[in-house]
Amino acid sequence: MTPGQPPPPLSIERVLFTAEQIDARVREVAAEISERYATRGVTLIGVLKGSVFFLTALARQLSIPARIDFLSIASFNPRGSRPGMVRIAKDLDEPIEGEDILLVEDIVDTGLTSRYLLQILAGRGPNSLAICTLLDRTSRRLVQVPVQHRCFEIPDRFVVGYGLDYRQHYRNLPYIAVLRHEDGWK
Ligand code: 5GP
Repeated sequence: MTPGQPPPPLSIERVLFTAEQIDARVREVAAEISERYATRGVTLIGVLKGSVFFLTALARQLSIPARIDFLSIASFNPRGSRPGMVRIAKDLDEPIEGEDILLVEDIVDTGLTSRYLLQILAGRGPNSLAICTLLDRTSRRLVQVPVQHRCFEIPDRFVVGYGLDYRQHYRNLPYIAVLRHEDGWK
């Protein structure tokens, strides 16, 4: 979508998870994380922009010290490269050596993005490295990635809301929904 174009009409087929359901589940997962990192605290790393809503909701429910940092990625498709290749467009502000790192994702789909990010982060010498995702779609997985914390498993449909976009729209929906027209589906 080029800047200045009107947003696509809101075309929601059905709501998968309401704001209340998400809120309740985020509290449960935050409790798991607080227990797991109780002794040393945790550093949450968010992947811009999709995970921002989830990360901030999660962080507010943690009962342990938490540091927060962000990175962003861009698709990287030189001729002949494999699909799903990404590069870091904005790197972390701080080093992570010796830290307990929780990579916070909006959705783990094929797993390619998460695997790439885990490889990059592992090379920086953290004390531990784990993944927490709002949504998990294991039915489309191409590579195995260890997902330690997940809020919801979802069906094989394109979803928007709570940070997830369709051409940069719908991120601000307070719920997660299936889009009626799935021309955004890869
Ligand atoms: P993966 O590398 O695991 O295939 O894809 C991860 C990224 O693909 C997510 O961070 C997200 O940006 C995008 N993605 C995958 N499935 C969906 C979906 O159903 N809706 C939206 N909005 N983005 C998705």
